[in-house]
Amino acid sequence: MSEERIAALHRRLAKESLDGFITFMEQDFLYLSGFSGDAGALVIGRDDALLLTDSRYIETAEVEVRGARTAKHGVPLWHDVAQAVREMGGERWGFDATAVSYDAYRQLEEQGVPLVPTKGIVLAQRMVKDDEEVAKLRRACAIAADALEEAIDRIRPGMTEREAALWLEMRMREMGAEGPAFPFIVASGPRGSLPHGAAGERAFATGDMVTFDVGCRYFGYHSDITRTVALGTPQAELQRAYEVVRAAQQAGIAAVKPGAAASDVDAAARDVIARAGYGEYFGHGTGHGVGLEIHEWPQISSRSDDILEAGMVLTVEPGIYLPGVGGVRIEDTVLVTDEGAQVLTVSPKALRML
Ligand code: ZN
Ligand code: ZN
Repeated sequence: MSEERIAALHRRLAKESLDGFITFMEQDFLYLSGFSGDAGALVIGRDDALLLTDSRYIETAEVEVRGARTAKHGVPLWHDVAQAVREMGGERWGFDATAVSYDAYRQLEEQGVPLVPTKGIVLAQRMVKDDEEVAKLRRACAIAADALEEAIDRIRPGMTEREAALWLEMRMREMGAEGPAFPFIVASGPRGSLPHGAAGERAFATGDMVTFDVGCRYFGYHSDITRTVALGTPQAELQRAYEVVRAAQQAGIAAVKPGAAASDVDAAARDVIARAGYGEYFGHGTGHGVGLEIHEWPQISSRSDDILEAGMVLTVEPGIYLPGVGGVRIEDTVLVTDEGAQVLTVSPKALRML
């Protein structure tokens, strides 16, 4: 698989008239070479590739890396990167300008590496997932959705947001997850109006709406799911908001298909919320790509130029946030297929009053 991905990267580099590419991103190491470590550099020339890492990881690299040579680098790393570039040759070496620090750039420049800034060459390739990636994403999503269902069965008035978050993380690990995809959001009662309210000390109370936004990592791949449930009967305004968000999320999912503009998926969900009079209470984009990072391409927002393709994996997550009252968000991670969106985070969406 690594060989195929490096070959696909070569085609992208050729289009940009680049002779090679240097990356320091751990997600790129895993994607392009199979290396699970997070330190070093991957140097990819026209017909050679070298993964440089340090003594902590070299044994792992020798076992894991496919499609590239491995070597232990000295200190500083830049000397060995420059040496590899000289050996592989070429006048134009790309790097991702959004992912390389200014210090690293200067060090490489001082070593005489002919650097050409690029943006998102590997990220663009990573947008469309192959079968191996889809299988991992599917599992990451199933673990998150199943663990969340179990957590929803267990929550009671008096339990704190942090207790629920801790239980969820433990349960996901028991089910095979490597760890949480991000710090879980558990926002109850009036805190529900905070779209990114981290789990805190608040105890659940009867009448609360509680928003859980959780996910896990599985072989490097992330999942992302949000469900909002009620404890007892929430106020009528929040019940109404829930039904609007549910319809908006369904409209967003229905708009997902190959060839659709990501901005149209955003508009499909946003229009439902705006028509119900809640437009000003939905401030964020409708979704994002999911893969080796929790937020990656494509971007599902009104400003996005991305066009959807089969094999992309993305979220659809509209919400309504009423300051001082509470909030509702419903989110699924979906796979774009030739037939449209396939939901990977399968879990009920009708309002549950526990
Ligand atoms: Zn989320
Ligand atoms: Zn998300």
